Amino acid sequence: MTTSATAPVPALELPATVEGFRAQFLRNLSFSGGVTLDEASVNDRYLALARTVRDFLMVHWLHDQHRQAEEQPKTVCYLSAEYLLGDQLDNDLLAGGLTEAAEGAMAACGIDLDELRRHEIEPGLGNGGLGRLAACFIDSLATLGVPSIGYGIRYEYGIFRQTFEDGQQVEQPDAWLTLGAPWEQPRPEAAQTVSFGGRTETDAAGASRWIPGWNVSAVPYDYLVPGFGNDRVNTLRLWRAKATDAFDLRIFNSGDYEQAVRAQTFAENISKVLYPEDSTPQGKELRLQQQYFFVAASIRDFLARLPEGFDLARLPERVIFQLNDTHPVIAVPELMRVLVDERGLEWDAAWAVAQQCFAYTCHTLLPEALEVWPVELLGRLLPRHLEIVYRINEEFLDAVRARFGDDEMRIRDMSIIAEFPVRAVRMAYLATVAGAKVNGVAELHSQLLRDKVLPAFAEFFPQKFTNVTNGVTPRRFLRLANPGLSGLITEAIGDGWITDLERLRALEPLAEDAGFRASFAAVKAANKARLNDVLQARDGMRVGDGHLIDVMVKRLHEYKRQLLKVLHVVSEYEGVVSGRVPLDALQPRTVLFGAKAAPGYAMAKRIIHLINAVGSVVNADPRLEGRLQVLFPPNYNVTLAESVIPAADLSEQISLAGKEASGTGNMKFALNGALTIGTDDGANVEIRELVGDENFFLFGMTEPEAEQLGRDGYHPAEFYQADAGLRRAIDLIASGAFSGGDRSVFEPIVSNLLYDDRFMVLADYASYMAAQERVDAAYADPDGWTRSAILNVARCGFFSSDRSIRDYIERIWHTPPTA
Ligand SMILES: *Cc1c(COP(=O)(O)O)cnc(C)c1O
Repeated sequence: MTTSATAPVPALELPATVEGFRAQFLRNLSFSGGVTLDEASVNDRYLALARTVRDFLMVHWLHDQHRQAEEQPKTVCYLSAEYLLGDQLDNDLLAGGLTEAAEGAMAACGIDLDELRRHEIEPGLGNGGLGRLAACFIDSLATLGVPSIGYGIRYEYGIFRQTFEDGQQVEQPDAWLTLGAPWEQPRPEAAQTVSFGGRTETDAAGASRWIPGWNVSAVPYDYLVPGFGNDRVNTLRLWRAKATDAFDLRIFNSGDYEQAVRAQTFAENISKVLYPEDSTPQGKELRLQQQYFFVAASIRDFLARLPEGFDLARLPERVIFQLNDTHPVIAVPELMRVLVDERGLEWDAAWAVAQQCFAYTCHTLLPEALEVWPVELLGRLLPRHLEIVYRINEEFLDAVRARFGDDEMRIRDMSIIAEFPVRAVRMAYLATVAGAKVNGVAELHSQLLRDKVLPAFAEFFPQKFTNVTNGVTPRRFLRLANPGLSGLITEAIGDGWITDLERLRALEPLAEDAGFRASFAAVKAANKARLNDVLQARDGMRVGDGHLIDVMVKRLHEYKRQLLKVLHVVSEYEGVVSGRVPLDALQPRTVLFGAKAAPGYAMAKRIIHLINAVGSVVNADPRLEGRLQVLFPPNYNVTLAESVIPAADLSEQISLAGKEASGTGNMKFALNGALTIGTDDGANVEIRELVGDENFFLFGMTEPEAEQLGRDGYHPAEFYQADAGLRRAIDLIASGAFSGGDRSVFEPIVSNLLYDDRFMVLADYASYMAAQERVDAAYADPDGWTRSAILNVARCGFFSSDRSIRDYIERIWHTPPTA
């Protein structure tokens, strides 16, 4: 990159006018797409539109690249195995200030822009909250003008597309690239070689060296990440695995053509598919290959941007690698290997550098979610890295002994190498030892991280531990997803909130303004109508007229407790059909679920089946007269979230306290004026503190109470015996009422709830039902509900990802935003 540092920025100009946009669009349609306007298909028009938007952004990207090569600022390299981006078109139009020009140009060409919007397929390169967080963060980094690069994997198949057959989840491959990928720019000339396998050798001087067994080529594909309204454009660089020519040739020359082609497939498998496990990694060899593949390529890529002769001892002045969970932690021994083996630094000097170049974000409290790699596997795939991990561990444990003496319990506790059930590397420990900082993602989570997950490390390195509460980008999740509310807010307080979300505070007094409340309620009603249009077109579904829209959308996981929501629905249903509850006492509600289950997670898939089964019975029962409905549109993704969240009245955030690290869905809902029914968990705690108890439906055990119950022994059957309503709901499921009389279908769910539920659903049932009664009562006062909804919006500006990024800058990165 030293050449580009001195090359002049080309004097590119693209006028962001209707005429300028139209001209560039027509050029793309013909010269890049090879069609005329008359004969262009929807896909042709979409591709040309996307390329046109990219062209406009590219002008700014070139300027920023040039400036960064020149100025060599400290750069945030965000390392994440997942980016759940969502649609690009409207986001990039908004950021680039191009929406009006594009609308005008499409109209002038007689093209329906909405049809092209619907044609877009979102890149689903992530599972859920963790991947979506990465996408929000790169948006905020660009909007704040922070020099940064997002690094990740260009999966050929992202998260699967979910369909239902007989109420059961079926996974379809997500072939998001088949109709062309207009947002990406392949950069084959910037490919990096990544090695695997082989062995190590010790040279005469006693230094170890890696003799790899095989290589793959990592080819970068760049996505432009525009800041909002600031003409800044950062890079998201995603790596694709390709067979190296040398590798093919060697086998090819041996005469085995078939074997050569198979080797190519083998190499390209590395970036073939996103692992669909969320919070429960499976420890698969290919997953470790993916992790090393992208971090090794990224580190080389970044080092290649440094000027010739750069003193690597000063690397911490130029870069911070933020590790998004443990997935990229193999970057730690990789950087050490590059510095020591390839660049000739002494070990101690290299370690001093590495310890300032990494910071680690932990995303979980579930022990099974902490990645651990068997030494056998790591030694086979990355033998030199294993040696480096051993040395890091030895020196670290020496330091522990120097402080605490030969306390073998403590040493075993803190060792990066676990001995049982197999010798394995604890990636979270490695990240904690190497990282300059370790952060949790909400106040409660960071506290539990110190007290429960990594207590010995918090004692040893108290200064390392910090908190950065997650956030969501207001551009996508308010401005774009909710144009009605955005317009209303802007009318009231101006549009400064889009980049300074705390300004929403100025809405507080308007909660007392009857006119504003009426407008706010009208926006909510319009959003429900819009959701109906989307659901109708996509799934033939409708929400009930005048219903409270009660939404639980997120990955399906036992800890999130979709089953608690199901028990509420079944109880309401049972109350009416048994005649104990008069129908007109039932607050009309539509309960909307959205959730994908990991394909190998049998219990989660069974819960999906149960939700659908309960839905078919409840929705079809004439005794309910449609007053209670359960909808479960398949394939919850960012696009569906953008329609559902603005229409929601009630946000379900009902995990067992102490299990949800933060949640970000909870923030999106509150910012869109839904009230939360939630436990004291994750960022719910902070939401409730900000919006006030009177605007939040709190229920359930606190984390210490849940912990205590676990210690005393949780006996779910006691809760079942003690609560007649709970008994009737569970008995109804067990009776086969939702499975055509077949009692075996949901028996595993029932016995799990009754005998060994780690997430204590029954313990919180009574409290949850009482909270739902408070919801019904509150909803019966529409004016009071709207007042609370407005206060939720006004008081949740804190949850902007811009604020999260400012916290990272201040507490972890120390990168000044550049003007
Ligand atoms: C925000 C988001 C999530 C995370 O939701 P949680 O409720 O925080 O688990 C998952 N999936 C999608 C598509 C999202 O937009």
